[in-house]
Amino acid sequence: MIVWSVSGPLPAAIIFGVLLTIRWFFYVRNLVKLGQWLEDPESRSVPEGEGPWEDVFARLNKMVREHRKERTKSAAALHDLELATSALPDGVISLDKTDHIEWCNPLAEHHLGIDRARDIGQQLTYLVRNPEFIEYLAEKKYSDPLILRDARHDGTVLSLKLVGYSGNKKLLITRDITHFEQVETMRRDFVANVSHELRTPLTVVNGFVETLQDMPNLNNDMARKALPMMGEQTMRMTNLVGDLLTLSKLEDRLNVLKDEEVNVPMMLPGCMEVGKVLSGGHHQLKLEMQADCKLLASAEELRSAFGNLISNAIRYTPEGGDIVVRWALNADGQPVLSVQDSGLGISPQHIPRLTERFYRVDNSRSRSTGGTGLGLAIVKHIANRHQAQLQIESTEGKGSTFSLVFPEQRRID
Ligand code: ADP
Repeated sequence: MIVWSVSGPLPAAIIFGVLLTIRWFFYVRNLVKLGQWLEDPESRSVPEGEGPWEDVFARLNKMVREHRKERTKSAAALHDLELATSALPDGVISLDKTDHIEWCNPLAEHHLGIDRARDIGQQLTYLVRNPEFIEYLAEKKYSDPLILRDARHDGTVLSLKLVGYSGNKKLLITRDITHFEQVETMRRDFVANVSHELRTPLTVVNGFVETLQDMPNLNNDMARKALPMMGEQTMRMTNLVGDLLTLSKLEDRLNVLKDEEVNVPMMLPGCMEVGKVLSGGHHQLKLEMQADCKLLASAEELRSAFGNLISNAIRYTPEGGDIVVRWALNADGQPVLSVQDSGLGISPQHIPRLTERFYRVDNSRSRSTGGTGLGLAIVKHIANRHQAQLQIESTEGKGSTFSLVFPEQRRID
């Protein structure tokens, strides 16, 4: 009979070795399980641990479940955000600092002819090659929208606006304004056509009124009183129609600015003569020529703008007042035409609205002095066409200064 002895240092070492092997075996098994799970953690569930690994795997399982829950929540929020941006009435494109597309909504894809699946990460200017658009993006003109006509060659008119965010990133908002443009064109055409149609009958009526007024043996009292009034009113209507036609012409996109070398110092004395006739000797008119540069501009439009400003200065300055017309360069070397008067002045709340059509501070004064309510709207349009700024400074009761500040590039020395 064999008796096994279980005491002594040798058997203890064997037991320790067996235990260590079992532990090693569990360790390797669990490691294999973990390794298999890690090969495809998305579709496999976390394996069950054995021995001391049971608790580790249980905690890992909990973490994975929480992480999946969070991910599902974020995906739902992202999906909601995508649905919301898809429902936006405007196109939206997010661009990085070098104008690569990070993301866009379906309307932006439609407006600019881009494809989200294909074009995310592409530089937008490679996809939209319109030179105006490329310049707009490069200049980062966040304040003004860019109007892109017929960018898709289907008559669509788009308004594009850049909005900066998060340092140097940009959102490009695109809007289809084709319908708005059509309505605007209809409005412009209607005003131009009506004004044009009114011109002929007005000329006829005016002619007859003048003829009747000149008749020496007109002995009807009523007619003698009525005819001057008729003459005055037909003249007002003629001026109104004339100004409406001028505005229509200035607004016409096909009427591009005809730039020429305009000798402003030579033009201004003529404008002053017209002003003197209008003033009838009731004001002191002075011309200050502080610069002798010429201007790259349309002579006809400049004459109209200068004439309107001088005429306003005379009409809104009581008898005996001073009017100074100045041609000078400002500190930035920009040519400036300013008309300064010592007249009624304008209170500050009216100033931002003065260039709106028919906006008047004092209706009766404007009408009684022959105003049409369109003079400053015309000046503003002419300024815009020359990339110039109309600046207005005024103090009620003291007088006003209206200045046209032209860009330096238009100066000819
Ligand atoms: P209007 O034909 O009525 O003069 P404008 O468009 O030329 O039309 O001017 C708009 C309004 O601005 C005028 O009705 C007037 O109230 C004000 N205005 C224009 N110029 C002057 C000025 N030099 N001084 C005071 N008010 C002025």
